[in-house]
Amino acid sequence: MINQHTVQQIIERAQIEEVVEEFVGLKRRGANMLGLCPFHNEKTPSFTVSPAKNIYKCFGCGKGGNTVQFVMEHESLTFPEALRYLAKKYNIEIEETETSDEYKEERKLVDALFLVNQFASKYYQEQLFNTDEGRSIGLGYFKERGFIESTIKKFDLGYASASYDDFTKKAIDQQYNIEHLRTLRLTTEKDLDFFRSRVMFAIHNLSGKVIGFGGRILSENKKSPKYLNSAESEIYNKRKVLYGLYQAKTAIRKLKNCFIVEGYTDVLSLHQNGVENVVASSGTALTESQIRLIKRYTENITLLYDGDAAGIKAASKGLDLVLEQEMNVNIVLLPDNHDPDSFIKLKGSTGFLEFIEENKKDFILFKTSLISKEAEKDPIQKASLLRDIIQSIARIPDTIKRSLYIKQCSSLLDIKEDILVSETNKAINGLIKQKRLEQDREAYRNQRIQQNQAQTDDTGFPIESPKKIDHHQKRVDFYNDEFQERDIARIIVSAGDKWYDEKENIKVFEFLYQNIEDVIDSLENPLYLKLINIAKVEFEKNNAIPESYFISHSDEEISQLAIDLVSSPYTYAKWEERKVSLQTSLPPEENQRKDTMRSLLRFLLKKLNQKIKHQEDLIKSMDSQLNGEEYILELKVLNKLQQHRNELAKDFGTTVLKM
Ligand SMILES: [Zn+2]
Repeated sequence: MINQHTVQQIIERAQIEEVVEEFVGLKRRGANMLGLCPFHNEKTPSFTVSPAKNIYKCFGCGKGGNTVQFVMEHESLTFPEALRYLAKKYNIEIEETETSDEYKEERKLVDALFLVNQFASKYYQEQLFNTDEGRSIGLGYFKERGFIESTIKKFDLGYASASYDDFTKKAIDQQYNIEHLRTLRLTTEKDLDFFRSRVMFAIHNLSGKVIGFGGRILSENKKSPKYLNSAESEIYNKRKVLYGLYQAKTAIRKLKNCFIVEGYTDVLSLHQNGVENVVASSGTALTESQIRLIKRYTENITLLYDGDAAGIKAASKGLDLVLEQEMNVNIVLLPDNHDPDSFIKLKGSTGFLEFIEENKKDFILFKTSLISKEAEKDPIQKASLLRDIIQSIARIPDTIKRSLYIKQCSSLLDIKEDILVSETNKAINGLIKQKRLEQDREAYRNQRIQQNQAQTDDTGFPIESPKKIDHHQKRVDFYNDEFQERDIARIIVSAGDKWYDEKENIKVFEFLYQNIEDVIDSLENPLYLKLINIAKVEFEKNNAIPESYFISHSDEEISQLAIDLVSSPYTYAKWEERKVSLQTSLPPEENQRKDTMRSLLRFLLKKLNQKIKHQEDLIKSMDSQLNGEEYILELKVLNKLQQHRNELAKDFGTTVLKM
């Protein structure tokens, strides 16, 4: 593990603008830098980098964080991997906390599984190149398929011998845990090798670690399936993986297009012929996670399928998802009896790419042309296919694009345009309803995951960055008093450590806390309560709580919140203004007080109104005859609350007027 001193050094040295600029073009705008967000599609830049605060924030999609988080998000790396990346960039030597046997014991399951797979991958490669059986059968097969050694090595191909348990025995000799071997399904329950007499394809994650294997049988044994795969595990979820993406990601980004093929060997073959922007979906329909993976690198997908009906069906299955992600999808059907592997061998890369350029069809128009062929035969079939197309079009978020498709479909299918428009609108409404339901469910689920599963490594940071709830958007729907509570949180983070009244020796946080203490139990958003409690503990220890304290807090929920708070569009605007208005505006301390007062009053008013409402409800529910004294008491409470509120409202009026 990377020791804490090194972690600190990396975080201090890494400059956000330098790190981001490797991937995003930035232009200076006042104190900040602005560029096109790498995490969502946009035409006007809303991705903002603040060199002074060493953070980034996108006002389009809400993503934000520090340098390490940027690298994690952008390159799909874990926290330690991102640190290594930055250490390399800044020539910082990594000091590891070295432990030997003990370390192996303590290591988390995930790390252990990676190590087992790494061992297995080495073993299979060893078998392929350095044993007679491997060379004649395994290497023989690959050579026969035309693969050269550099390709074989680039993809960590290997060979599993016919032996019943050679691999398992060697792994146990090397002290690998039998349970881990079984978890990964490298070893069967009876302690035999799972993969036997197969050529092995290692499956990598985005950082190049082996997460699983596909094994292809070589004998003609009809009883065994042609391909076997590793079990899904903590490190392998086949719905979230695309074969070859690790080797292809740079080329995909550069060429702004991703080819999707069906098989492992299609990927290898294209690579070997210089077409490197290719991944395989491994026969299954594309999943949303897989599409998101591609979207990190490009918006353009080209599917390469053999021209048979099964291929087309498989291809079109996941595609509505792709359209929804605002990606451009083209489809190319290869000539009969060809797959990408055989076709590139026949044509070479130039001929291959030329064919694609000439024959690629827009996915929706492709689907439409299929319909018009079918429809000649069967009008009922036509109706059902038409509904299918309308569903596809409805998923395209871009309205201009949508109407272009409708025009083209209308002429291709000879159906009136306004009928298509009204049908599409119906479909869109249906989708919106469905989406809302899903989002609600998803948000609740995420919240629960975040609460339950704070997996951290020993530096106290999460192993994988958990899916974040966008504090700007989703929470707003969930809590009534979100706006007021959030503003209190904003003041604490951005000004809690500053003077509210220097002569009286009162800091903003102290002033604020004294005033909200009574209503603190009515905070709706537990995250803000957490923030306030953290600040309180530090404050009572007489520790400083500057903005940077929250931004680099080890609790990721807190650091993310702090980043969101200090980089709201409002504060950004203020940063920009500052240069111009410095001479004319009030001294910062005065502004601080007003800002705090305003936020506090707003918050208290909201909470008081709420209490008043509860009190009124309570009184309404009581029977004034039956609960005589009690009733009067509650009425008095209500009266007190109302008085308090009116005073506050007056204060609020004067404070606002004075601004
Ligand atoms: Zn964005």
